[in-house]
Amino acid sequence: MARLLKGAPAAKALTERLIPQVEELKARGVVPTLAILRAGERPGDVAYENAAVKRCGKAGVAARRVTLPADCTRREILDAVDRINRDPAVHGCLLLRPLPDRETEQAVAALLDPRKDVDGMTAASLAGVFAGSGAGFPPCTAQACLEILDYYGIPLEGQRAAVIGRSLVIGKPAAMLLQARNATVTMCHTKTVDLPAVCRNAGLIVAAAGRAELVTGEFLSPGQVVLDVGVNEGPGGELLGDVKLSEAEGIVSAVTPVPGGVGAVTTAVLCAHVVRAARLLSEGAEA
Ligand code: NAP
Repeated sequence: MARLLKGAPAAKALTERLIPQVEELKARGVVPTLAILRAGERPGDVAYENAAVKRCGKAGVAARRVTLPADCTRREILDAVDRINRDPAVHGCLLLRPLPDRETEQAVAALLDPRKDVDGMTAASLAGVFAGSGAGFPPCTAQACLEILDYYGIPLEGQRAAVIGRSLVIGKPAAMLLQARNATVTMCHTKTVDLPAVCRNAGLIVAAAGRAELVTGEFLSPGQVVLDVGVNEGPGGELLGDVKLSEAEGIVSAVTPVPGGVGAVTTAVLCAHVVRAARLLSEGAEA
């Protein structure tokens, strides 16, 4: 049976590493503070927001909820971002996305102060990820993939990795972060020919397609490590990953569960970014 790579221990270890850093900041009068900007009441957004607030509490990070109605205007969202930009007591901004209107999301990415962009949505953050410079903040979920691999001691150098998905939120940055650690990465998408064969030949699979149980036994081979980033609603409203866990468990050597895998680490990465943003802002440095 495959080893289940649970996210909770990795999240706990990362959170514990943050506590002394938060204490040091507080001793200097700086309370690391995250603003979470949400438009509407989508259950997935509310659940993620609640998980983020809970994780912030464990790390000693302050969290402020900024909630707008689902039918709010682009101007109202941008005004909220502007207030966050100008508030010296706020060090990080998490916009719950996707917004129904992609143009508004792009406008937020253009307006948000990159030094407060703790979920890697601005061009400056993405440039840092793509240049491999370490500047800016990678999107939290993409970095959570690396965090969970490191926690479980899974080597990346020389690893053949298949990343399913090429969004700017997960697929592309995850591929870049893996490449920066000397994995050899194939980025897969809907036009990839014979996706099962590409995946079977990889040592590491990152499934971030947003298609429930896309990755079945024919995608898998013995010895693989599989990260399941997908969060999908099953026919009965249940939560399903992109990987068919019941088939993966009997084939691969390790797999992350859904829920309780990569998603559980994402909020700890978010806190780590807020703490770093607070330190850099308080020192007047660039992200
Ligand atoms: P997205 O923007 O819809 O992108 C999906 C990507 O997957 C696209 O690049 C698409 O290819 C590719 N794809 C879709 N179906 C495919 C298929 N059958 N075969 C191969 N490639 C396929 O989604 P996203 O925002 O990246 O999110 C992906 C998943 O992660 C979702 O389930 C989302 O809910 C989940 N998620 C999880 C967390 C977490 O913390 N765990 C956080 C955020 C999101 P094309 O480019 O060709 O269209």
